[in-house]
Amino acid sequence: MSTSVNRRELLAATLGLFVVPALPQLVTAQSPRTRLILLGTGGGPRPRKTVSASAQVILVNDTVYVVDCGDGVARQLVSAGVSLTKLRHVFITHHHSDHNADYGNLILLAWASGLQTQVDTWGPPPLTRMTKLFFEMNSYDIDIRIKDEGRTPLVPLVRTHEFSKGGVVMQDDNVKVTATLVDHPLVAPAFGYRFDGPDRSIVISGDTARSDALVHLAQGADVLVHEALWVPAVDQIVGSVANASTLKKHIMASHTAADDCGRVAEAAGVKTLVLSHLVPPDNPMITDQMWIDAASKYFRGRVVVGKDLMEI
Ligand SMILES: [Zn+2]
Ligand SMILES: [Zn+2]
Repeated sequence: MSTSVNRRELLAATLGLFVVPALPQLVTAQSPRTRLILLGTGGGPRPRKTVSASAQVILVNDTVYVVDCGDGVARQLVSAGVSLTKLRHVFITHHHSDHNADYGNLILLAWASGLQTQVDTWGPPPLTRMTKLFFEMNSYDIDIRIKDEGRTPLVPLVRTHEFSKGGVVMQDDNVKVTATLVDHPLVAPAFGYRFDGPDRSIVISGDTARSDALVHLAQGADVLVHEALWVPAVDQIVGSVANASTLKKHIMASHTAADDCGRVAEAAGVKTLVLSHLVPPDNPMITDQMWIDAASKYFRGRVVVGKDLMEI
């Protein structure tokens, strides 16, 4: 760390600049109690160098609520400074691998890191079966660690909760969580979630075409994290596959264009729109300002382009 600071200072001296050393973010009286950190902001299952797959964490009073478990979610939580041993709730919006590939891994690795307390997981079927099979697949490691390291048995710690309809799905001392069915063919059910915390409300769209149900769910929310598609890039995305036109139609029918994200945010009357699950996630030709301009055509509030590990 000191090396990088020295380099920065050296560079600053060379350029005649004054650099304030980076400080950890201070929690002030104004900091929201209901915290949101984007863990992965890229859409699609392809692992990438610079952008992680879909995942968010909401923190209230030290309780950890993870929403979606794309590739790398456990490591991203560690990078965000969230202790894996405090994992308490995991929500899955839908069963596409860019949202659930590391669902089991997150729980297993949290346990291997010292988690000893109950974890509740929430989402559409077949969540319970997936959980059971995951533990079965990893039973060798789990059993060895229980014997070798004296760990608390993992399987009894995890409780799954499946649901196929919208409504209030969970409530505790910190948050009320409401789900709504969104429109993401061919995946059904697929959910968006709203977290009403002590001081803020946060909505996570999941993957969806432009959705009136989501507009309803997000009414008056402080923050709406909405998946966003850059339509002109779709031809490039599907270009190399044999059934390009079918695939393009499918992508357009199951995701939301960036300007439509603005329409949804405006109709819902949210304060802040966060564009995330960006497709394409890593095209330098599409600048943040382009995403913002597209969403701002129809939305008068604040637009943020999501970045991994950004806190909102
Ligand atoms: Zn997705
Ligand atoms: Zn999806």
